[in-house]
Amino acid sequence: MKSIHLAPENVSDLIRHLQTLGKVFAPHPKGDTSFSFETVSDPDSVVLDYNRTLQSIKKYFLPPRERLMSYSMETNQYEKEEISAEPRIFLGVHSYDMQAVLKLDFNFGQGNPELNYLKRRENCSFIGVSFTPDDYHFSQSVGIPVEDLKGFDLFFRKHESGYTVFVVTKKGEELLQDFSSLSDTGFESDISYEFSTQLSINYNRLPELFNHVWDSPVWEEVSRNCVGCGTCNLVCPTCYCFNVEDNVELSLKTGTRDRHWDGCMLNSFAAVAGGENFRESYAERQRHRIYRKFKYISDVTGEPWCVGCGRCIASCTAGISIVEIVNKLKDEYEQTRLIKSTNKQERASVESSM
Ligand code: SF4
Ligand code: SF4
Repeated sequence: MKSIHLAPENVSDLIRHLQTLGKVFAPHPKGDTSFSFETVSDPDSVVLDYNRTLQSIKKYFLPPRERLMSYSMETNQYEKEEISAEPRIFLGVHSYDMQAVLKLDFNFGQGNPELNYLKRRENCSFIGVSFTPDDYHFSQSVGIPVEDLKGFDLFFRKHESGYTVFVVTKKGEELLQDFSSLSDTGFESDISYEFSTQLSINYNRLPELFNHVWDSPVWEEVSRNCVGCGTCNLVCPTCYCFNVEDNVELSLKTGTRDRHWDGCMLNSFAAVAGGENFRESYAERQRHRIYRKFKYISDVTGEPWCVGCGRCIASCTAGISIVEIVNKLKDEYEQTRLIKSTNKQERASVESSM
């Protein structure tokens, strides 16, 4: 794979060059300690060295709130919202957020393909950047290394003297055409990235673990402090549940159909007419959320549906960690198995002594 050196002082020029090819989105500082993907207006305000953004780039393909159509009962007509597929370039994306987009492509491409999402995904280019894992990242534990290049057109590996830019696709090569402030790189050895937070079970074994832990006491234990705020859903790059509602004007003559994000940790999510709620307790909701990440979709795709970004852990005011939940489930399951096998041995030895 071709690689090129980009000096730090040339990054802004490269962004200006990219802006001639499409609308560019990149991480910007937000408040004192946070970051957010925004449309780039000033290339000098882009930050490529960041831990994670508050929201992933999912918000550009599945907006938090969107109008699907407006209608008139007088004319018996409806009008769908036009989605444009202008060229868009996403710069400074971390590997776990790229993988999350590929997972959403699967979710929205299956069955009845979700056309608004798919339209927004057209004409997009992705430029990745490496990151230093902090105490919340655990993407390596779910099979996504820092330098996972899948889905990217270009990938920036950060090092002391700037960036090595890997040209991953033909589209990536085209993005760099006519940009001259690049020089050849020599041979580069791989960089190793340390993750301090890890799942204590190989991700390939997660579906097997989740075959046995439905009734585990761990669900109650880890949900004791949960307040059902739904933040963990709302920040998750692979959560894609939404609600569709009709908003009819008071005149009852016109209205709109709108869609907004929903979340399975919210009390109303599994509530139905008549007052029934299929997942009333926090523990039931937490179990559902985690099974969505490691069991239900994983049984179909063979992959975890959590990308290890750590956003749900970093954002939970109750300090609930998906890593701790999985590790506790694994420990509890192993303990239970040990007790069962010890009992069997005891039984066998008791039986043989009779
Ligand atoms: S786990 Fe945390 S973020 Fe999620 S609903 Fe409960 S309190 Fe809110
Ligand atoms: S479940 Fe948590 S760690 Fe996993 S992808 Fe969602 S927000 Fe990130």
